Amino acid sequence: MLEGFADRVLVLYAGRVVETGPASSVLSSPRHPYTQALLRCLPPGMAGGLANHKQCLPVIPGEAFVSVAAAEGCRCLFEPRCVERMVICTEREPEMIQLSSTHGASCFKHAD
Ligand code: SF4
Repeated sequence: MLEGFADRVLVLYAGRVVETGPASSVLSSPRHPYTQALLRCLPPGMAGGLANHKQCLPVIPGEAFVSVAAAEGCRCLFEPRCVERMVICTEREPEMIQLSSTHGASCFKHAD
């Protein structure tokens, strides 16, 4: 359903691009933990296979607080809220990693 609104999707967290690509690819196979968490929060029928069909929609735990250190690029900005965080996520900001010729995600999970 969401694919009908745009050809490409660009997902922002705290003002930074964390995932970008064709709508069909990002919405059906989100690769960034924030994009995955966002899609789980959509009402049933709006996010294809990731939709949660319970009455209460999930929320992403934590607060969208950005410290001065984080704003200066010292860590992944989503790290405090990420269930997949690693030590490296607190040490520097991940770069955009190309997952295909058109789909990219800024996450250490996809680094070589
Ligand atoms: S870089 Fe680390 S903290 Fe950031 S989204 Fe990826 S796994 Fe989570």
